[in-house]
Amino acid sequence: MKPETSPSATDRPIDPDLIPDNPYLLLTPGPLSTSKSVRATMLRDWCTWDDDYNHGVVQDVRERLVSLATSLPGYTSVLVQGSGTFGVEATVGSVVPEDGKLLVLANGGYGDRIVQIAERLRIANGVLDSGEIAPPDCAALEATLTADPAVTHVAVVHCETTTGILNPLADIAAVVKGCGRTFIVDAMSSFGGIPMDVEALGIDFLVSSANKCIEGVPGFCFVIAREESLERSRGRARSLSLDLHEQWRTMEEGHGKWRYTSPTHVVRAFQQALRELDAEGGVAARHNRYAENQRVLVKGMESLGFRCLLPPQHQSPIITAFFEPDDDAYGFARFYEEIKRQGFVIYPGKVSVADTFRIGTIGQVFPDDVQRLLRAIGAACYWHPEHDDMVSGASD
Ligand SMILES: *Cc1c(COP(=O)(O)O)cnc(C)c1O
Repeated sequence: MKPETSPSATDRPIDPDLIPDNPYLLLTPGPLSTSKSVRATMLRDWCTWDDDYNHGVVQDVRERLVSLATSLPGYTSVLVQGSGTFGVEATVGSVVPEDGKLLVLANGGYGDRIVQIAERLRIANGVLDSGEIAPPDCAALEATLTADPAVTHVAVVHCETTTGILNPLADIAAVVKGCGRTFIVDAMSSFGGIPMDVEALGIDFLVSSANKCIEGVPGFCFVIAREESLERSRGRARSLSLDLHEQWRTMEEGHGKWRYTSPTHVVRAFQQALRELDAEGGVAARHNRYAENQRVLVKGMESLGFRCLLPPQHQSPIITAFFEPDDDAYGFARFYEEIKRQGFVIYPGKVSVADTFRIGTIGQVFPDDVQRLLRAIGAACYWHPEHDDMVSGASD
């Protein structure tokens, strides 16, 4: 006899209208503001060995990720518990062989973190650091790879969230592939928000996480891998729980089974977020929205007298760093509180070359929200002599 309710009928998320509003909009690069319909999916429990979850959710998510990454064959995806850094550490620690060497192109905090991971795992490494506000030097990269045959792997951060700089992935990829090295990309804050094809770029391992441009909630990360490169990394892992190859084998053989407890609610929310990305028109449409958010932001901030840290040709649509006002009366803490009181949360700066604060333009954030934000920022410029005029004039 047929059960009264089919499994799919039981996966009926509650009406998103019943989900409360957030008290403020997150203008941070993750965790970020998510849709109510994504949050609504998290109100039921899942069995981690049942097909409803393994096949219906996990495998679907894995397939969707691969199709976002490339239209060409030869790639797979592995989901890993933990925040984005766990994915970078799982990848670096699982794919560089004992006698291998990792060269890191660094220009910010997340590039530095890859070096830190290599150091901690006692992986031989080298760094090409281009400073915090310049892209990697491709000629220096080529010279280093030619001079140092010991280097087996190259890693770079695509969008360095420290400043919002967008590193020239295609140029870097061409050098790495031309020199025959394995290519690892931390695309944490760009994947899903900036169009790219991993196969066309020759990326072997791309790492990203649930709570960035796909607009899910935090709790796991994922690696898009060239199958051949992943296959070659069997037995290389320096960690049990962060063994990328083992995690992949289990997911493949178990048809969506995770090795250890998976963040079920978060994975289901991520599936919903992927469906909503599709409904928005895919990565190209999302990229257009983020780029428009960022354009409106910079135009409005400049009219309020703020200046961007980066020149526009290096600036990503993901997050923008602004110089702090050169005024003794200004303090970030009060500025932040005054903006938060009006319903927006911004992000402190992270670079050492200048005093900055940052504003993210990803997540469920739309140009109208940015206009409202600009009015709030105008009202929060308490130190400014023309403060009262700015309150009304910011976004006109
Ligand atoms: C967010 C992010 C990470 C991962 O940070 P977690 O705090 O571990 O999620 C790594 N690299 C970049 C470029 C990021 O933006």
